[in-house]
Amino acid sequence: MTSPSSSGADPELPVRTPESTEVVQTRLPPGFRLREFSLLAALAALCALAVWAGLRAADGGAALGGAKNPSEGADLAAAPAAPAANPWPPGIMAIVFLDIGQGDAAFIHTPAGRNYLIDAGPGATEHQSYDAGAQTIVPFLRTVGVERLDGVVLTHPHMDHLGGFLSVFKALEVAAVFEPGIKMTTRTYEEFLRLVEAEGSDYRLVRGGDVLDWGPELSITALAPPAQVLKGTGADENNNSVVLLLRYGTIRVLFPGDTELEGEQGLLVYGDQLRAHILKAPHHGSNTSSSRVFISLVTPQVAVISCGKNNKFGHPAATTLASYERARATVYRTDTQGSITVLTDGKTYKVIPERS
Ligand SMILES: [Zn+2]
Repeated sequence: MTSPSSSGADPELPVRTPESTEVVQTRLPPGFRLREFSLLAALAALCALAVWAGLRAADGGAALGGAKNPSEGADLAAAPAAPAANPWPPGIMAIVFLDIGQGDAAFIHTPAGRNYLIDAGPGATEHQSYDAGAQTIVPFLRTVGVERLDGVVLTHPHMDHLGGFLSVFKALEVAAVFEPGIKMTTRTYEEFLRLVEAEGSDYRLVRGGDVLDWGPELSITALAPPAQVLKGTGADENNNSVVLLLRYGTIRVLFPGDTELEGEQGLLVYGDQLRAHILKAPHHGSNTSSSRVFISLVTPQVAVISCGKNNKFGHPAATTLASYERARATVYRTDTQGSITVLTDGKTYKVIPERS
């Protein structure tokens, strides 16, 4: 394991005050249609999704994350071998918000063909047997021809983001690991660190202002956690989540982890630099995140909520859904629509839910 390091600040991302009123209009024209997107890319993606859906259907239709109890789904590793092929042509970035029940896991295939994973959903515990890594993520990665990950991001060390990584590390080579380094004394986190070291992955602590090198065609900037991590918020692990702003061409995607109101407050300093076409709704759409001021700066056209069906936390909150509706953002949910795929060529984008 190498020592924690960080790279330079992003010169294109000046610190703005919350009072900044300059808004750069980058919203896509309304009525964006499929024919305006690369037909090849769309077809390729649909083929991949069909293979993926077929794989799940072959497993008895257990939509693992969307099932009432994901642990009831049989192990997909036992499913028939799926064709291993990368379905996305060069120049297309694919982001798949995987349906892993209550938690987060987003796969990113870069335009140059690199592969990353932001969070890995829950792992098996003494309370529930569903392992997002073994039962959903690894089978999915094999379906799309991924045998090696160029990097993974652990936004924060809570089980619903961390647990699945143990099986991912055991199944695939992982070149780099990015995480906030908020120490947890759980056995799962200790096992995670042990696997990172055993794998020999490049290990990097992330702080706001860092730039992650995921290829020259992408800009990946960390906006949080701050250099002085937040303390005493009542949800410090969540509020110190790694927050990533991904830019490809003119398309911007914001991944805020499970940051809550205090973490969002800290992000307001970025002002209109927070804007993003696509926002992974923070903290599974809870009512302790997605504040009005945060949404008003992000101005998302699309909000993706990653949560489990009938989860015990009541995610997403009705008030949060109303906030996104007020902001005229289209909401996609993994609990009701399965995995959500976003395809972009850097100029336009298309969102393809597994179920409409
Ligand atoms: Zn979470």
